Amino acid sequence: MESESISNAIIGYRILREEVDRLAQDLERMHSRQLACKKGCCDCCLNLSVWPVEFFSILDELRKDNDRAVAFNEAASCGYLCQQECIIYPYRPIICRTHGLPLVYWHEELDPAGYGVMFCKKNFIDSDNAAFGPDNTICMDEINTQLARLNIEFVSQLQEPDFSPQTRIELKQLVEYL
Ligand code: SF4
Ligand code: SF4
Repeated sequence: MESESISNAIIGYRILREEVDRLAQDLERMHSRQLACKKGCCDCCLNLSVWPVEFFSILDELRKDNDRAVAFNEAASCGYLCQQECIIYPYRPIICRTHGLPLVYWHEELDPAGYGVMFCKKNFIDSDNAAFGPDNTICMDEINTQLARLNIEFVSQLQEPDFSPQTRIELKQLVEYL
């Protein structure tokens, strides 16, 4: 996909990303005393795969950012970690924007009632699931539902037989497309 041809799905993706950033900032303020997250802490950074809409949005932004040198380090837990910093930080995927925060997923194994709250074990060390509810968590199922809808729209416009709505693309492939 060329940088010039930004689809409506990618515009929608970036709006969703801004919404996630706003939610994450609100929760960071709300939970500031229980979060151990800080610059240089990157145990949550692992190599990821993403849907095409997210992959090609990030790729488009990296192509336009001539000041950013991007390389993939095979030895790092996420190849975009360099000296414990994310070198694609402004364009990082949505899931990376929620690291450490209490995230709600529909998951019977996590909670008999169905909903499970997940967070980094370094955070909320004095809290249990009873401390969380709709007002102080991010519902990732809702975010992922919107993301899936945008991805279906994007893949249908792409008309590339190699990509389906189920395709996951490893983030390491960004450097191959750049
Ligand atoms: S893309 Fe950046 S924030 Fe996301 S896992 Fe990799 S280094 Fe961490
Ligand atoms: S989520 Fe956990 S590992 Fe990641 S920055 Fe926060 S405290 Fe560190």
